[in-house]
Amino acid sequence: CGIFAYLNYRVPRTRKEIFETLIKGLQRLEYRGYDSAGVAIDGNNNENKERHIRLIKKRGKVKALDEELYKQEGMDLKADFETHFGIAHTRWATHGMPNAVNSHPQRSDKSNEFVVIHNGIITNYKDLRKFLETKGYVFESETDTETIPKLIKYMYDNRESEDISFSALVERVIQQLEGAFALVFKSIHYPGEAVATRRGSPLLIGVRSKYQLSTEQIPILYRSCNIENVKKICKTRMKRLDSSTCLHAIGDKAVEFFFASDASAIIEHTNRVIFLEDDDIAAVADGKLSIHRLKRSASDDSSRAIQTLQ
Ligand code: GLU
Repeated sequence: CGIFAYLNYRVPRTRKEIFETLIKGLQRLEYRGYDSAGVAIDGNNNENKERHIRLIKKRGKVKALDEELYKQEGMDLKADFETHFGIAHTRWATHGMPNAVNSHPQRSDKSNEFVVIHNGIITNYKDLRKFLETKGYVFESETDTETIPKLIKYMYDNRESEDISFSALVERVIQQLEGAFALVFKSIHYPGEAVATRRGSPLLIGVRSKYQLSTEQIPILYRSCNIENVKKICKTRMKRLDSSTCLHAIGDKAVEFFFASDASAIIEHTNRVIFLEDDDIAAVADGKLSIHRLKRSASDDSSRAIQTLQ
């Protein structure tokens, strides 16, 4: 059960490099245990103008998935992506046996409009599944997770305004979820964008830029910027960031984001990390990371401003 995702913004990467980053991330998480693995990446961008997402999933070791990636037909390994978002997962089955269909990413529909990786358990998945089936959604797996990509597609198809943001959709989805989750979403409707959220399961984000990242004091203490935790886990010497300091956005500059269940998968790329807290929704759009907290009740004192980080 491990999540790893990689977004390169204005940092050209070949598909092969993207595969290598995703696989290496999963391998760092192998110690957590798993029975299958999978990735979602963009389809070839050159020959096919239409956006699409490719899913590659395999029961067994990450090594088996790695081999599978290079056997795919029509997959140009040299294809260059200036901006790309790839997601990867190792599954520890809780609902549904370990096989390729049940492994993650799970998808909204056959055209992979929305794909999701999940760690944890959705306890009200039966009710959600029943509801979605009455709306015509056809489930292909036995997982609790599959309700999530289908629910976000439902929210998308029933949106009241054309320009609803990816994170607003995810916010609606997690309001319906019970249980524990760390989730990362990818969609053909939001190319180059990422949304990640968690409740009960761990998730953190690493940020790397070839430009000097500026840091800025923000008025509200943002507890998630706790580099001490990473230090403890990795026992590595790292640059210390004050807990009230966040990475300042430089929107038009090249930047890379790494999403993972565990700091051990991120530390080789960057020492700048943000630990998400329960009900945080982190979204990357146009190379900018913003995080806000879901308001669950009127008394919830999390009404701080959205922080734009890089
Ligand atoms: N409950 C989900 C499943 O069985 C996720 C398991 C995990 O955390 O890997 O597919």
